[in-house]
Amino acid sequence: MRNKTIRKELISLLEEKEMTARDLSKALKIQEKEVYDHLEHVRRSLKAQKKKLNIDPYYCLVCDFVFKDRRRLSRPGRCPKCRQGHIEPAAYRIF
Ligand SMILES: [Zn+2]
Repeated sequence: MRNKTIRKELISLLEEKEMTARDLSKALKIQEKEVYDHLEHVRRSLKAQKKKLNIDPYYCLVCDFVFKDRRRLSRPGRCPKCRQGHIEPAAYRIF
Protein backbone atom coordinates (compact mmCIF):
# COMPACT_ATOMS: atom_id res chain seq x y z
CA MET A 1 0.00 0.00 0.00
CA ARG A 2 2.81 2.35 0.90
CA ASN A 3 4.40 1.80 -2.51
CA LYS A 4 1.17 2.73 -4.22
CA THR A 5 0.97 5.96 -2.26
CA ILE A 6 4.56 6.84 -3.07
CA ARG A 7 4.01 6.28 -6.78
CA LYS A 8 0.88 8.39 -6.77
CA GLU A 9 2.75 11.19 -5.07
CA LEU A 10 5.70 10.81 -7.42
CA ILE A 11 3.40 11.12 -10.44
CA SER A 12 1.66 14.22 -9.17
CA LEU A 13 5.01 15.86 -8.34
CA LEU A 14 6.34 15.20 -11.84
CA GLU A 15 3.16 16.45 -13.44
CA GLU A 16 3.80 19.76 -11.70
CA LYS A 17 7.45 20.27 -12.50
CA GLU A 18 10.71 18.72 -13.59
CA MET A 19 12.68 17.04 -10.80
CA THR A 20 15.85 14.99 -10.39
CA ALA A 21 16.08 11.73 -8.44
CA ARG A 22 17.59 13.68 -5.55
CA ASP A 23 14.70 16.18 -5.55
CA LEU A 24 12.26 13.27 -5.53
CA SER A 25 14.13 11.45 -2.79
CA LYS A 26 13.85 14.54 -0.57
CA ALA A 27 10.23 15.25 -1.43
CA LEU A 28 9.11 11.65 -0.90
CA LYS A 29 11.48 10.96 2.00
CA ILE A 30 12.87 7.80 0.45
CA GLN A 31 16.34 6.70 -0.69
CA GLU A 32 17.52 7.78 -4.13
CA LYS A 33 17.89 4.08 -5.02
CA GLU A 34 14.20 3.56 -4.28
CA VAL A 35 13.29 6.54 -6.43
CA TYR A 36 14.71 4.74 -9.48
CA ASP A 37 12.68 1.61 -8.72
CA HIS A 38 9.49 3.62 -8.43
CA LEU A 39 10.29 5.64 -11.54
CA GLU A 40 10.84 2.42 -13.47
CA HIS A 41 7.47 1.12 -12.36
CA VAL A 42 5.77 4.44 -13.08
CA ARG A 43 7.36 4.63 -16.53
CA ARG A 44 5.72 1.31 -17.46
CA SER A 45 2.35 2.06 -15.89
CA LEU A 46 2.05 5.48 -17.56
CA LYS A 47 1.77 3.94 -21.02
CA ALA A 48 -1.67 2.59 -20.19
CA GLN A 49 -2.74 6.09 -19.17
CA LYS A 50 -1.42 7.61 -22.39
CA LYS A 51 1.06 9.63 -20.40
CA LYS A 52 4.79 9.66 -20.75
CA LEU A 53 7.80 9.97 -18.50
CA ASN A 54 10.00 12.51 -20.19
CA ILE A 55 13.68 12.24 -19.32
CA ASP A 56 16.12 15.09 -19.60
CA PRO A 57 19.16 12.79 -19.80
CA TYR A 58 22.32 12.63 -17.72
CA TYR A 59 25.25 14.44 -19.23
CA CYS A 60 28.95 14.66 -18.55
CA LEU A 61 30.11 17.93 -17.03
CA VAL A 62 33.62 17.40 -18.39
CA CYS A 63 33.09 16.61 -22.09
CA ASP A 64 29.33 17.26 -22.52
CA PHE A 65 28.61 13.67 -23.49
CA VAL A 66 24.83 13.12 -23.28
CA PHE A 67 23.52 9.75 -22.07
CA LYS A 68 20.73 9.80 -24.64
CA ASP A 69 20.42 6.07 -25.20
CA ARG A 70 20.62 5.02 -21.58
CA ARG A 71 17.76 2.65 -20.81
CA ARG A 72 18.36 2.22 -17.11
CA LEU A 73 17.33 5.11 -14.92
CA SER A 74 20.00 4.77 -12.26
CA ARG A 75 22.91 7.19 -12.20
CA PRO A 76 25.86 6.22 -14.43
CA GLY A 77 29.15 5.81 -12.60
CA ARG A 78 31.31 7.50 -15.16
CA CYS A 79 31.34 8.91 -18.64
CA PRO A 80 32.01 6.32 -21.40
CA LYS A 81 33.78 8.93 -23.47
CA CYS A 82 36.18 10.72 -21.11
CA ARG A 83 35.98 8.30 -18.13
CA GLN A 84 35.32 11.07 -15.64
CA GLY A 85 32.68 10.78 -12.95
CA HIS A 86 31.23 14.28 -13.03
CA ILE A 87 27.76 13.52 -14.26
CA GLU A 88 24.90 15.99 -14.17
CA PRO A 89 21.77 14.20 -12.93
CA ALA A 90 18.86 13.41 -15.23
CA ALA A 91 15.60 15.25 -14.65
CA TYR A 92 12.12 13.81 -15.04
CA ARG A 93 8.72 15.22 -15.98
CA ILE A 94 5.40 13.60 -16.75
CA PHE A 95 3.20 14.82 -19.58
ZN1 LIG B 1 32.80 12.88 -20.39
